[in-house]
Amino acid sequence: MIFRQLFDPQSSTYTYLLADEATREALLIDPVFEQARRDAALIDELGLKLKWTLETHVHADHVTGAWLLREKLGSRIAISKAGGADGADRLLLANERIEFGKRQLQTLATPGHTSGCMTYVLDDQSAAFTGDALLIRGCGRTDFQQGDARTLFRSVRERIFSLPDRCLVYPGHDYRGLTVTSVGEEKLYNPRLGEAVGEGDFVGYMTHLGLPHPKQMEAAVPANLKCGKPIHQTAQEPEWAPLTYTFAGIWEVQPHWLEEHLREVQIVDVREPAEFNGPLGHVPGAQLIPLGTLNEKVSLLKKSEPLVVVCRSGARSAQATVLLGKAGFDKVANLSGGMLRWRAQRFTVDGGTE
Ligand code: FE
Repeated sequence: MIFRQLFDPQSSTYTYLLADEATREALLIDPVFEQARRDAALIDELGLKLKWTLETHVHADHVTGAWLLREKLGSRIAISKAGGADGADRLLLANERIEFGKRQLQTLATPGHTSGCMTYVLDDQSAAFTGDALLIRGCGRTDFQQGDARTLFRSVRERIFSLPDRCLVYPGHDYRGLTVTSVGEEKLYNPRLGEAVGEGDFVGYMTHLGLPHPKQMEAAVPANLKCGKPIHQTAQEPEWAPLTYTFAGIWEVQPHWLEEHLREVQIVDVREPAEFNGPLGHVPGAQLIPLGTLNEKVSLLKKSEPLVVVCRSGARSAQATVLLGKAGFDKVANLSGGMLRWRAQRFTVDGGTE
């Protein structure tokens, strides 16, 4: 079997590619909208045919790439019936089989994090994809999206933990750099759900976590209830840089690409002068045009040359790309993460302090 574990750094989400070696039929578990191009390129290079995209649940922290991949590659969308999303090709119940070539996954209903969570178990029980039901030494929260701690406890202890100890557990996320665990390992060492913990203690703990709601929730949940179909139609794919199209409809460029192409693009910084000359500094060669003055100063910019827009975090510059698009600029991209990520990744700046 061909197996790849892919990572989205923005949401710390794992996407899994599984394919049958002989027939080249493949499936993706939990693809991320912004990574659909990457996933499609990998599938293409490996000579695979994407048959299915599967979701472990309706995510609150990222938008699924399912719809986009169906448009690009003709894959079909499978999701749990209990998740309540529209637009899928197949609604899954417990104990169903999803085939890819000679291999298959079996669905195991593991509600609790959300009411529609599914774990996918490989045919020989050597691996299980648990989404957020069971994380490495942890579990998904149970305080929204019809979450229920008691239900989650039973899903993990009675269903996931009934798989063989050697069964590898591939989670939906990890925030500490871990990639895989096993049923046996989690039974022993999971501080929330390990075999030494009682149901009452788990429920008490989960009800008092007091976590803030995820930043992406307002946008992600409604989008995922439509399998990731965007409100705006995706624009033509630009070719001047390897851009990413965000679910919000903005083209973005990554800092490492800009660093290597500083002299080939116009860089516009739309922050205020005090920020431009402040501690974060600015990208070498950037010209300062604060967002509020962009419409009147747009004639300073050339429509023939690509343009990268920068601000502190990437929010104002995203607005600026929309304004520039309306003004007739068609080669415009937002610098992903703005100056904060540029500095965090230690790229060179003019001005600024350490
Ligand atoms: Fe989740």
